[in-house]
Amino acid sequence: MDINKIISETKKIDKEYHYFNTIDDSPKKEGNGNLNNVAVSVKDCICVKDMESRAGSKILSTYKPVFDATVIQRIRKEGAVIIGKTAQDAFGFGSFSTNVGKDMKIPLNPFDKERACGGSSGGAAGFTQKSTFKHIALGQSTGGSIVAPASFCGVVGLCPTYGRISRYGLMDYANSLDKIGPIAKTVEEVALMLEIIAGYDEKESTTLNEPVPKYTSYIKKDIKNLKIGIIKEAFGKGIEAELKEKVEEGIKMLEQQGAKIEDISLPLTKKYGVETYYLLAMCEASTNLAKFCGMRYGASEQIKGNFNEYFSNIRSDYFNDESKRRIIIGTFARMAGYRDAYYIKAAKVRAKIIDEYKKAFEKVDLLVSPTMPFVAPRFKEIEKLSPLQNYMADTLTVGPNLAGLPHISVPIGTNKDKMPIGLMLTADHLKEETLIQASSKLEK
Ligand code: GLN
Repeated sequence: MDINKIISETKKIDKEYHYFNTIDDSPKKEGNGNLNNVAVSVKDCICVKDMESRAGSKILSTYKPVFDATVIQRIRKEGAVIIGKTAQDAFGFGSFSTNVGKDMKIPLNPFDKERACGGSSGGAAGFTQKSTFKHIALGQSTGGSIVAPASFCGVVGLCPTYGRISRYGLMDYANSLDKIGPIAKTVEEVALMLEIIAGYDEKESTTLNEPVPKYTSYIKKDIKNLKIGIIKEAFGKGIEAELKEKVEEGIKMLEQQGAKIEDISLPLTKKYGVETYYLLAMCEASTNLAKFCGMRYGASEQIKGNFNEYFSNIRSDYFNDESKRRIIIGTFARMAGYRDAYYIKAAKVRAKIIDEYKKAFEKVDLLVSPTMPFVAPRFKEIEKLSPLQNYMADTLTVGPNLAGLPHISVPIGTNKDKMPIGLMLTADHLKEETLIQASSKLEK
């Protein structure tokens, strides 16, 4: 499809479903390679030179980066066409893409407009499902934001090992947790994108200096003798029955193709994962957001009164409620006097959670669970959730994110309402190829 046609199609879909914060009217193809003429949508929190990049927040409106993120440089070289910036919860704070910036629209689920896309990479996953041309999305995850929307929208999402893909040019939510990763219709497209964007970056000190495998070559590899552990706690109370059934069918498919299945228990992750994740994520977020004060980036106004008043007023007007909640809780939890009880303790529990996963990977190659405890909820159900109930939606995804482990969500069927269900596989550090190898066996 030619570029003009791609843009007019994108606009048509966006008008109905609200997947974009910005669409480029006349994108240019620069390089030449493995992404020739592939349309790539970019989550709003990833910097694209000269394109408004707001991380889904009003406080960054008018901000146009003067540089490309490393992932953007890499895909441009391969001939990708960057079509725009996708909708998200502001700064990544959410699981449903309903916590959007004050002047932004909420993306609607491609299968039912009364339901959410999931978050925070909601626009990315929704558009991936609806796109009528070759398209791959770049998403971002801190605690589940790639796999959650992928599962709600019936597409494939891969969150890599922490440090596998450069974060240079990614607006920080929580630096020790953030990852960029691909969302696409097929495992093969996800593998291709990963192959292009993964790898060491001298501009980013947390990237791993490790060779990048040819991920696409793992699609054909069989899974005989691969050991897969069923996470026992992920099939317990609070997980929808229909969803468990479908995931169990998926596990049978893997078994029929030669994988050895056993049970694995991760009690600590189940008990403390959500609390540990939210404490650390909010602590880091509260410092990261300090720089958004209506002066250095994006939105600014006429200064009245002193600087303190100016900063407070603009932050109070331009941040949404969830952003404010996280700044307040995060600041509290790392204050002198509370720091040992909350932030430091959470950091210690995180180390134990990593240990629990590492022990599991001495026994198995992959772990399997549902991606989310339920299918995409309706907006009217989400409105009734307390903040705590909101956070509990991440119960299955925070574990691998806290441990920096790669994980993938693949569609495994639908429930009686025809809403998609995602199966999640988690691998040991830097074993993305095993995720690709096994998840490709689940595709129809
Ligand atoms: N729902 C989680 C949160 O709100 C994860 C979001 C993310 O991965 N960016 O923090």
